[in-house]
Amino acid sequence: MENYDAEKLQALTGHASPMDILHDPSQNKGVAFTHEERERLCLRGLLPPRPLSMEAQLERVKANFFSKPNNLEKYIFLTALQERNETLFYRFVRENIEQTLPIIYTPTVGEACQTYSQIFRRPQGMFISLEDRGHVRELLGNWEHKDVRVIVVTDGSRILGLGDQGANGMGIPVGKLALYTACAGIPPIHCLPITIDVGTNNEDLLNDPLYVGLQHKRVGGDDYDGLIEEFVQAVGDAFPRAMIQFEDFSNDNAFRLLDKYRNRVCAFNDDIQGTAAVALAGLLASLRITEGELKRQKFLFMGAGSAGFGIADLILLAMEQQGMPREEGLKRFRFMDSRGVVTRQRDDLTGRKGEFACDDAPEKDLEKVVESFQPTALIGVSGRGGAFYEEVVRAMARINQRPIIFALSNPTSKAECTAEQCYSWTEGRGVFASGSPFDPVTWQGKTFVPGQGNNAYCFPGIGLGVIMCQAKHVTDEMFLVAAQTLAEITDEADLNKGRVYPSLQDIRAVSLKTALAVIKVAEERGLAKTPLGENAEERTRSWMCSARYRSYV
Ligand code: NAD
Repeated sequence: MENYDAEKLQALTGHASPMDILHDPSQNKGVAFTHEERERLCLRGLLPPRPLSMEAQLERVKANFFSKPNNLEKYIFLTALQERNETLFYRFVRENIEQTLPIIYTPTVGEACQTYSQIFRRPQGMFISLEDRGHVRELLGNWEHKDVRVIVVTDGSRILGLGDQGANGMGIPVGKLALYTACAGIPPIHCLPITIDVGTNNEDLLNDPLYVGLQHKRVGGDDYDGLIEEFVQAVGDAFPRAMIQFEDFSNDNAFRLLDKYRNRVCAFNDDIQGTAAVALAGLLASLRITEGELKRQKFLFMGAGSAGFGIADLILLAMEQQGMPREEGLKRFRFMDSRGVVTRQRDDLTGRKGEFACDDAPEKDLEKVVESFQPTALIGVSGRGGAFYEEVVRAMARINQRPIIFALSNPTSKAECTAEQCYSWTEGRGVFASGSPFDPVTWQGKTFVPGQGNNAYCFPGIGLGVIMCQAKHVTDEMFLVAAQTLAEITDEADLNKGRVYPSLQDIRAVSLKTALAVIKVAEERGLAKTPLGENAEERTRSWMCSARYRSYV
């Protein structure tokens, strides 16, 4: 016979036993339960006797976090905290965002995906595999929370710059949703990470006895499309208020799925559209340093994939807004991939390449292309570390007083050049941004703080805006206003240090401003199912969760 009143506990917490409260990460406060709460929730005896404040808990978490010998251990530690005490996890992440973001997201999350089968402790999110064909709706019904508003989904086929990671890609949706909460205050109860497993072409995984996914080659074609279609329909049925974020799908499927679903449901692809918003924001802020005009820039992209074409599309939209027709704008772009410049003469102009192909003669040497095309901005999205070698960067510095050089490939080892290389080879004149974080660089007495074009600057705020007004679709214009908002927030002090993004410490304010700009667009275009009008700011602010413990007394 228990000594506690199960009904009373149920009414207070939704749990019928005290131990269940401690095992629920959304309610557990650990030793921060006060004497009164322990009495009321029948927790006495289940915790050490002395209650501690959240501040004391944070001190302990901090000491533990910084004592871990490497980033992967930090990742494992934070994941365990998230599964134990969500509120403390988010508070810690928010208060230490500069240190924790590279752990819960790129670059460490990449390492976590690569070792997912080895470090696997408890499942997070949902796995939907080919074996679930015909039952996806039923499966979604197994998820505990019914009011899902954001789903981040991957098929693991192109994880960061690390290629096919199969079911191990789950680290990505989990990490991205943690950022939705940490950066935009979206309550975790509304977030659902999903991995779609159709096999993997990664031989190492196929031969790994510990691999947790389907151990066969990837299945494509109608079977693949059928599963994705069933998934999208099942989401609409099970979670009608949910926005779907496609994440880390390989280039071939990424554009295809985006085109198929963007005007049918509320969905976007962060690798294409979110990256574009962050990169454009960085470029707009760079132009405040170089005193250039967007429509007068010339862009040379190393890498002709999801990120590159997504960025180019949004730049073109911004140029159009400034009165430059798309056809004219297209002339200001060159793309290179592993086969050299994307020219019309090539016989492999698949996907978007045809549209961006130029009339130049074929050329594989980046330095020569820089010399002939004379770009003002060089943008690396190739996943090829070191692609911007010394001669290339020096050529950019010869051509431009203030060359813009963005080495956006992740993780750090894949960056096309390092911050230090950029500043030294351009003699401190380069305007640099990267995908993964770089430490500040002192060059001839001046300290530069390299900006990190982290997608976390944009997608959480965009998602927040979309959710708040229940936008029917996520449009390119929303990404454009997100970019413009972010570029405006970056202040002179940041720009003076060479930093083209604001401090991540300000991320919640950035997300709120972004959300309000997105809501405005949705309302103006008649896309908002629940327009918020003048109350937008107040309603959004009050909906954002605060990472504070709730009181049970
Ligand atoms: P993708 O696979 O769609 O495209 C990669 C492109 O690079 C392809 O066109 C490929 O042909 C080309 N490429 C490969 N090897 C090359 C070489 N040796 N020389 C020239 N081109 C080469 O991938 P994606 O989604 O476009 O992402 C590319 C990179 O951008 C990744 O490293 C990713 O981490 C990074 N990225 C950064 C951000 C960010 O900084 N916010 C966001 C998204 C993606």
